[in-house]
Amino acid sequence: MPLVPVTEHQAAVAALLAAPPSEPELLPAAEALGRVLAEPVVAREQLPSFANSAMDGYAVRAADVAGASPDSPVRLPVGGDIPAGAPVGTLAPGVALRIMTGAPVPDGADAVVEVEATDGGTTTVEIREAREAGTFVRKAGSDVRAGDEVLPRGSVLGAAQVGILHALGVATVACVRRPRVLVLSTGSELAVDPEPGSGRIRDANGPMLAAAVLDAGAVAVPHLSTTDDVPTFLAALEAALPDVDLVLTSGGVSAGAYEVVKDALGPRGVSFTKVAMQPGMPQGIGTYDGVPVVCLPGNPVSSLVSFEVFVRPALRRRAGNPHPERPVVSATLTEPLTSPAGRRQLRRGRLDRAAGTVTPWGPAGSGFLGWYAGADCLVDVPADATDVSAGAVIDVWDLTVG
Ligand code: AMP
Ligand code: MG
Repeated sequence: MPLVPVTEHQAAVAALLAAPPSEPELLPAAEALGRVLAEPVVAREQLPSFANSAMDGYAVRAADVAGASPDSPVRLPVGGDIPAGAPVGTLAPGVALRIMTGAPVPDGADAVVEVEATDGGTTTVEIREAREAGTFVRKAGSDVRAGDEVLPRGSVLGAAQVGILHALGVATVACVRRPRVLVLSTGSELAVDPEPGSGRIRDANGPMLAAAVLDAGAVAVPHLSTTDDVPTFLAALEAALPDVDLVLTSGGVSAGAYEVVKDALGPRGVSFTKVAMQPGMPQGIGTYDGVPVVCLPGNPVSSLVSFEVFVRPALRRRAGNPHPERPVVSATLTEPLTSPAGRRQLRRGRLDRAAGTVTPWGPAGSGFLGWYAGADCLVDVPADATDVSAGAVIDVWDLTVG
């Protein structure tokens, strides 16, 4: 059977996870960090809501200081102070008011002379520079006008977005619901006790994939692990099904005996294929009781690379994220590498952004999670390349961004 191209399996997983938009989830603005807006946010108010000073200085009528210069300063009486938080007042002609940054510019004033251009006086002030009307005045509505769409649908809420919601008094926002994902590890070798006994190992994939799910902007329901016993596996799967939008299994999909995922789900409509990729050749895809199921290989490196390539972009797209893919950058290889003919290789690497170079990190084999943990990118070796020399320019997925 020919190997399935990576792009074809990517499209299949994306199609499996595509869903019509669900009812948005209303969230307090303070709890919406990292979430994707299901509806645009339209400002009901303007910002700044009142004209305020951009500097500590003196609120004046520009006409009153028109002739001021260092050689011929203008002296004005100081009618009082306007600290930040003061209500909007009025400026009489021929007078200056000492004003602080953010304080309301009084009616009648049209400019602020910064304190550095004065003698800083408190009863009278010597103004040493003329200032045009509008100088150092932040006009009402100069940042946001009422009716502006400040955040379009699909915005991912970072700190600045949370800030503007609060500045505008937007208390709740409609966010795209996050898909809920069950990560189900398989393997009779997976220890249930903290200290694995002879021949046993700790479950790395469960917590790792749950972390990857969270990082992709989805919800990981508490991950589970089962033995290689088909009824045990199916019981765990069925118990979790009503609560999830996706089941992500790891292990039990390759060619050996005791391949629990293949044995349990193969006869129940899930397809198991070989994808032209290294690592991560064996993959499974289908539904169980109508719930999407994606089956990843068990080797931890294969599992996480498979997640990166197939699941992460599809989950992020489902979660409404407008940038589902990792950014791809070009970098120069510092060392030669080899890759199997006819399979796209995603090799762990370390990117030197300043130098524009990438160094393969650890062996190509799929058992080297320690090396993966020290890497920060995936080197994307095309399927037709078998020997890539040092100095070649190659695509690299930046795992530190997105
Ligand atoms: P499998 O695909 O089930 O044959 O597993 C392939 C390799 O990955 C074996 O060495 C397993 O022990 C290992 N493996 C499978 N599942 C996990 C897991 N959850 N955590 C760590 N290693 C695993
Ligand atoms: Mg196994």
